[in-house]
Amino acid sequence: MNSDLVVVGSGFFGLTVAERCARERGMKVLVIDRRPHVGGNAYSADEPTTGIEVHQYGAHLFHTSVDRVWEYANRFTDFTSYQHRVYTTVRGEVYPMPINLGTINQFFRAAYTPDEARALITEQAGELAGTDPQNLNDKGIQLIGRPLYEAFIKGYTAKQWQTDPKDLPASIITRLPVRYTYNNRYFNDTHEGLPVDGYTAWLERMADHPNIEVRLSTDFFDVSQPVNKGAVVGQVPVVYTGPVDRYFDYAEGELGWRTLDFEQEVLDVGDFQGTPVMNYADDDVPYTRIHEFRHFHPERDYPTDRTVVVREYSRFAERGDEPYYPVNTAADREALLRYRERVEAETAERRIVFGGRLGTYKYLDMHMAIGAALSTYDNTLPDVLR
Ligand code: FAD
Ligand code: UDP
Repeated sequence: MNSDLVVVGSGFFGLTVAERCARERGMKVLVIDRRPHVGGNAYSADEPTTGIEVHQYGAHLFHTSVDRVWEYANRFTDFTSYQHRVYTTVRGEVYPMPINLGTINQFFRAAYTPDEARALITEQAGELAGTDPQNLNDKGIQLIGRPLYEAFIKGYTAKQWQTDPKDLPASIITRLPVRYTYNNRYFNDTHEGLPVDGYTAWLERMADHPNIEVRLSTDFFDVSQPVNKGAVVGQVPVVYTGPVDRYFDYAEGELGWRTLDFEQEVLDVGDFQGTPVMNYADDDVPYTRIHEFRHFHPERDYPTDRTVVVREYSRFAERGDEPYYPVNTAADREALLRYRERVEAETAERRIVFGGRLGTYKYLDMHMAIGAALSTYDNTLPDVLR
């Protein structure tokens, strides 16, 4: 093989490492992906009858406060001025998310000031006020009080995770800000926007370098392919961004993932819901949210009489499903520790680095995947490539 490095997976982690190694170190990099396209879960394609860009693995919003990541991303794409806002439907009424003073006042039919609202929530958090809960249920009640938790979080989380919120880590809910102002932006980050000509154009530009070869529809575990685990590991340095448990043949058990089912429809209306994302918090609605993709790009010239909507359903992943979100129960965390030991030994002995969302079993936003890849390139790869 005439490659200096094999990268398994063409998501943001894999492409960032590939791009850096090719451009900065002049290395010949072979990127393989088992899917028929580059980009991992950030891949998008235009719906053919309307031209509306649809993110194929769920809506992806780019945001970061890390200047280095923002500058790096801007080498490959310009960004629109899009700012994400989300609404949620609860018992037939629409409220702004994340929970802010507008949500609180609408819910309680009140006109509280920030201090009054804070005092009310503290009272409603009851015995959990001022504590430091470690699970999602208690953290949610502590953050917003029981009535708001039960209306906006409990049903949605039950649908999304199918796991008792007492068994889910508090970190899932602390991703969502709670604000005592009317600011209803979803993200707090300094930089935010969507790639002007789409995610796929951005990702393809990252891979567009004479030293990078991309081989699609190529599974690293398929022994009939010339580039597979047995043939490559130990021979050539490898960056592996597939599932960590799969790499070790599930020797420490299977890590739990949630997967999503997407139901896409093209409708003969110009505007279905007036906003990009509508969450559905009630547990008798089977989907968690509806995305209407035209609203991500109000600057584009899309048809005015048709629209694309995607309903999102969540369930536990079986083997063979796309793994989307790590479930991270206590049992998963224990198994992960055992996998980490194996990873360390494998990296030391066989010149392979594990990275990305699947390779580290971590929920990573895109900017985190890019940031982690840049630091792997700086800190870990030099040893592996020596
Ligand atoms: P991935 O993109 O998953 O790439 C891994 C690649 O490895 C895949 O292409 C896969 O096909 C390939 N692979 C796996 N196994 C093999 C194998 N055996 N052989 C060959 N190839 C293999 N982030 C945000 O910042 N904002 C958002 O709004 C956002 N929304 C999201 C919504 C959903 C539904 C999901 C699931 C994620 C979302 N993310 C979002 C996170 C974002 O998708 C990740 O940060 C990003 O995909 C991580 O990149 P990665 O390279 O680590 O993994
Ligand atoms: N969440 C909720 N109700 C909502 C939105 C979010 O209960 O209307 C909870 C839910 O548990 C979810 C978590 O907050 O898993 C994080 O939400 P986020 O929007 O970050 O999830 P993602 O978009 O990554 O699926």
